[in-house]
This record gives sequence, C-alpha cells and structure tokens, in this order.
Amino acid sequence: MKAGVISIQGDVSEHLAALESAMVSLSMHGEAIRVRNVEEVREVDALVIPGGESTTISKLLRRFGMFDAIIRRANEGMPLMGTCAGCILLAKKGDSQVEKTSTSLLGLMDMRVDRNYFGRQRESFEADLSVDGLADKFRGVFIRAPAIIETWGKCKPLSRIGDRIAMARQDNIVGLVFHPELSGDSSIHRMLLEI
Ligand code: GLN
Repeated sequence: MKAGVISIQGDVSEHLAALESAMVSLSMHGEAIRVRNVEEVREVDALVIPGGESTTISKLLRRFGMFDAIIRRANEGMPLMGTCAGCILLAKKGDSQVEKTSTSLLGLMDMRVDRNYFGRQRESFEADLSVDGLADKFRGVFIRAPAIIETWGKCKPLSRIGDRIAMARQDNIVGLVFHPELSGDSSIHRMLLEI
C-alpha cells in the first residue's frame, strides 16, 4: 500500500504520520509519501488532499497538472479523502465565495459546501462527533471550517454537527470539514485505507 498526501500546503506531515499509524494498526505493509506531481498521483493507491486555502490549493493543483489526474484516478476507484479545504475541492457546488474567487472544484462528490461556514481562525473549536462506521466518538478539530450544506445522489452523510453535515462519503471518496490528522486518532485514516 502506498498512500499519498498532496504536498502543496497544510498539515502534510501530520497526515503522513496518521496514515502510517493506520497502516500499523491494520497490519498493512506500505508507506506514506508526499505527492507533488502527476507521476506521484498515478503511483499511489490512496490519496489525501489536506486543509489549507482552497483557492490556493486549487490553483496549484492546476499549475502542477495534478487537477485532472486526481479526477481520473478517483473515477477509476482510487480511495480519496479531502479534509477541510480538501473537502471544499471535492464538492460539485460551492457558495458565493467559491464563485467570487473563481475556485475550480474537482466536483467529485454530490454535495454543496459553504466555505468559511464556522467563521474565522479565532472561532476554531473541537467537538466529539458520532461517525457512521466508527465505534467510538471522534474528536473533530474545526479550523476555519466549511460545512457540507446538502448532499444528493450517491453522496451520503456520515457525521453531523448541529444541523450541518461534517463528513460524507460517495463510493471511494470521503470528504470531511474537520482535521482528522490533529486528533491523535487514526480511525478515519484507517477508514480510507480500508476502502
Ligand atoms: N477556510 C479555508 C478555505 O476556505 C479552509 C480552512 C482549512 O482548511 N483549515 O479554504
């Protein structure tokens, strides 16, 4: 198993550590690598798009030619997880901020997201979440987090926060608005590797 993390911005090393610890607990042999170009997108068996700034990540994915390669691999069935800004990019529809900034979305999940739904950096918070498929609650870290406002078609909510959706899955693709790499709990990364 070779799992990759898009290395443009954000918590890359924390995701690599969480993927490695997930492999150990699943007794899976493999490695977690930084993904910076199309060849590396083609080489991995599973991929994470971390948080950061969705506008910047989107632009740089295009500049480095990875944008279309990710879409192709995801459509072929590669397990893909987008967290926070990564989750915004997975959506088919964004809000007015996404439109105003002309952010290109990968459009892989039947869902609509609202970009800084939970406010600014200082309004960051943590919450215990029930996640379908996990036995224990997951401590979600929300940093300038978006919300998933609605899902349709094949996209199914897996976790909610208040009246909003915090995590959803569509076949081999998982999107979550919090940062699973910051909880010291690799169960969501395990979920990805088990796909
Ligand atoms: N609010 C950021 C954005 O719109 C996402 C924040 C994050 O990834 N922690 O891109």
